[in-house]
Amino acid sequence: MGLGAMGDGRSYDAIVVGVGGMGSAAVYHLARRGLRVLGLERFDVPHEQGSSHGVTRIIRLAYYEHPSYVPLLRRAYQLWRELQSALGEQLLYITGSLDVGPSESEVVRGSKLSCDLHGIEHELIDAAEIGRRWPGYRLPRGHVALHQPEGGFLLPERCVVGHVTAAQAIGAEVRARERVLGWEPRGEGVRVRTDRAEYEAGRLLVTAGPWIQELVAPLRGLAQPERQVLAWLQPTRPEHFALGRFPVFNMLVDEGRFYGFPVFGIPGFKFGCYHHLGEQVDPDTMEREPNARDEALLRAFAERYFPEGAGPTMALKSCIFTNSPDEHFTIDLHPGLPQVVFASPCSGHGFKFCSVVGEILADLAIDGETRWNLDLFRAARFSSEKS
Ligand SMILES: Cc1cc2nc3c(=O)[nH]c(=O)nc-3n(C[C@H](O)[C@H](O)[C@H](O)COP(=O)(O)OP(=O)(O)OC[C@H]3O[C@@H](n4cnc5c(N)ncnc54)[C@H](O)[C@@H]3O)c2cc1C
Repeated sequence: MGLGAMGDGRSYDAIVVGVGGMGSAAVYHLARRGLRVLGLERFDVPHEQGSSHGVTRIIRLAYYEHPSYVPLLRRAYQLWRELQSALGEQLLYITGSLDVGPSESEVVRGSKLSCDLHGIEHELIDAAEIGRRWPGYRLPRGHVALHQPEGGFLLPERCVVGHVTAAQAIGAEVRARERVLGWEPRGEGVRVRTDRAEYEAGRLLVTAGPWIQELVAPLRGLAQPERQVLAWLQPTRPEHFALGRFPVFNMLVDEGRFYGFPVFGIPGFKFGCYHHLGEQVDPDTMEREPNARDEALLRAFAERYFPEGAGPTMALKSCIFTNSPDEHFTIDLHPGLPQVVFASPCSGHGFKFCSVVGEILADLAIDGETRWNLDLFRAARFSSEKS
C-alpha cells in the first residue's frame, strides 16, 4: 500500500513518533495492514522514562470511568490474547479484579453500571467477606467491592517488546535513541526531522506520551504530565499476596484512590496512588528518584489496608501520567491536517487499551475513520475550554 512514500530509503507510508505502549501497537497494526512503517523512539525499547514501565498494569472489564469503554476493552482483551499466541509468550494474567469503595462511591456505582449495561459477570461483596476470601485485604467496615473474574494484569515492558517484535517480523522498522525534533506537512504527507536524519511519509502518527504537547500544537495545555511513584513492599505473609491468591484492585479510601497487584516480577506487593502528590511536571526535568515523602505516603496506605503486605521496601519507581482535563483519552486526526493522527490515551488508565488503540490509529491513518465510536475522545471537546 502506498500512502505518498517517495521510494528512497528515507521514505515511508507512515511514521510513528514514540514507540512506547501506544506507538508500539500502532507500528504493529500499520505493518499488519501492509504499510511500510518507521517507528522512532527517543529512548530505548523498552525504557523507564515514560509511562509504560513498572512490570505490571491492570486490565479490567468493570469500568467505572465510563461504560462506553467496555466494547473497546473487549476488543483489547481479544487483541492481547492474539498477540501473546503469535509470540508464544504470556502477556496477560487473569487474577480477578476488585473495585472497592463506599457503596455509593463512583468507583463502585460506576463499575456496577458498566457491568449491568454490558452484561458483565460480577458480584458485590462486603468488607468482611473480602477479608475471608482474600486475607491480604483489611478493608474499612462499610466498604464494598465489585468482584469481576476477568480482571487481571498485563506486563507493559513485554507488551511493548512484543508489539515491536511482531511488527519487525512483518517488515516494520523501529529506530531507538533517535529523537524527533519536529515535523511539517509536505504536500499530502509529512517531513520529519530527528537528531539523526530527515524522513518523509504519507502519514504521521504521534504517540509521544508525556512529551506529546511538544509535537502536537492542538494538545498544548490539554495533555499535562504528572509525576507518579510506585511501591513494592515485601509481604510478611507472602501467601496472601501471591499470584492466584490476590485479585488486582482499585480502591477508594479516605487517603485517595489506590490500585494494587499480587507479587509478580519484583519480590513485593505492588501498589500506587492515583495522582500521588498531584505534581504537574516537565518530563525532562522532573525528579525521577523517589524520595522519603513518596515512600511515607505509600507505606501509610499499606499499613492501614494491607498490614501483612507492609514489610521492608523492595523497590520504588517513578512514572508519568499524562492527564487530559476530563481524564478521558484524546485520540483524533489533526484538525486541518488529515495526514496526521495523534493519541494521548493516558490519564493513568490507558495501558490496557494499547492493543485496540493501535488498531484504531491504523484505521484513522489509513481510512481517516474507524468503526469505533470516538466521541468521548475527540480533541474538539476541549475547544470551548481553550478559547
Ligand atoms: C504509575 C502508573 C500506573 C499506571 N497504571 C495503569 C494500569 O494499571 N492500567 C492501565 O491501563 N494504565 C495504567 N497506567 C497508564 C498507562 O501506563 C499509560 O496510559 C500508557 O502507558 C501510555 O502509553 P503512551 O504510549 O501514551 O506513553 P509512553 O509509553 O510513555 O510512550 C511515549 C513514547 O514516546 C517517546 N517519545 C516522546 N517524545 C519523543 C520524541 N520527540 N521522539 C521520539 N520519541 C519520543 C517516549 O520516549 C515514549 O517511549 C499507569 C501509568 C502510570 C504512570
